[in-house]
Amino acid sequence: MFKIKASFVHCFVLILTACATTPHYSERSSQFITDHFPEEISFIKTMQDPLFKKDLENLLTNVHDINISEVNCSTGQIACSFKSYPHTVFLKKEYFLLSKEEQFTTILHESYHLLHKSFDHTLCTKEKRWGHECDEDFNSAYGIEYKYLLYKYQTNPSNNTLLLLKRLDRRINKS
Ligand SMILES: [Zn+2]
Repeated sequence: MFKIKASFVHCFVLILTACATTPHYSERSSQFITDHFPEEISFIKTMQDPLFKKDLENLLTNVHDINISEVNCSTGQIACSFKSYPHTVFLKKEYFLLSKEEQFTTILHESYHLLHKSFDHTLCTKEKRWGHECDEDFNSAYGIEYKYLLYKYQTNPSNNTLLLLKRLDRRINKS
């Protein structure tokens, strides 16, 4: 159900910046996505794989609301989604400390949970210390992040994308 990120305790200056700029309200997801991810949206429009492009568009349009608050996700989570809110992604302020690319794939991750009504993860076999925060294969919330970034890396390679791919690979047991 949840996506856990590393602690950002050491990023005190960044946290202050995020606090100053993070909105604390609920907004239509289409507006949020357009405002925050113009590069990713432009990239999706250029995709040559029509099926994958459609998958991504279906994921994004299924989210109707982005709710930025501190009360819904648990401690240690930066984003979450719930069966009882089938079109809402909840974000905490720490979310805005991630790179734009990871912010976007986090939305894809939570969108996958919502669209597939599947909120579970499984035990990590590559990194047991991560507990139950992995998926078995690519047909999953972490898998959609990986597939998107791999597609992006193959057409427009960057160090940040590669770093995210390597990290996500550890979260997918059969990869
Ligand atoms: Zn998840």
